[in-house]
Amino acid sequence: MSLCIDESLKLNTTQFAEFTKTLKLRWQIEIQNTIQFLKWIKKFNRLQENEIDEVMSLLGIDCRKFLEEQTPYMTTKEIKQLADDGFVVGAHSLGHDRFSLLSKTEVEREIVESCSIIAKMIEVESVPFAFPFSANELSRQHLKEIYQRNPQVSFLFDRNGFQPEPEFIVQRIIADAPTQEKQSNISQLLFQAYKTEARKKIVSPFQFKKAKKESTCKKEQPLSQPFQTSK
Ligand SMILES: [Zn+2]
Repeated sequence: MSLCIDESLKLNTTQFAEFTKTLKLRWQIEIQNTIQFLKWIKKFNRLQENEIDEVMSLLGIDCRKFLEEQTPYMTTKEIKQLADDGFVVGAHSLGHDRFSLLSKTEVEREIVESCSIIAKMIEVESVPFAFPFSANELSRQHLKEIYQRNPQVSFLFDRNGFQPEPEFIVQRIIADAPTQEKQSNISQLLFQAYKTEARKKIVSPFQFKKAKKESTCKKEQPLSQPFQTSK
């Protein structure tokens, strides 16, 4: 996907117009500019690999050649060396999908299998896991169960600043990455954490009342279709 993005940015106006014409024929989509193309391509996920391959060939990208020539990934030997030198090496899923779009079984597989691969690679019992994007919208209870039944997962990393989480979730923060010149971002992260906590306390009672009201409505007016629960 990144290669497609890079390559699309190299196209001149005529080439881009030609490219989007082909996309329209193949996917029936109207793309006018690079921003729209980025938005479209970023929606593909790992299960649509064949379609990403199609876009790659339209852009003349030879993925195998790129991997051979650029060697963008570290080798097993290099990763093992890092671990032996004292660095903590963790897992980051099998396919870097948005976990909020996966089923519970898929979430567990992504965490556990990627941790097993890295643990085996660096010859340790367990490794930490960092969520791709974030763990927002994932059930903490489900994550707790995954953590408890899989010894190869040492702990989980999320990226919600200083917001409180269960003890098995550690927040990763980019400390001292100033968003404004000569100003640390720590105060901003703290502010965000307090703000979210305050919002939770204000919003929760309202959501509770709303949910209660909705469930009463459902009881009084039965749905014509059977009520479906999500996975
Ligand atoms: Zn990532």
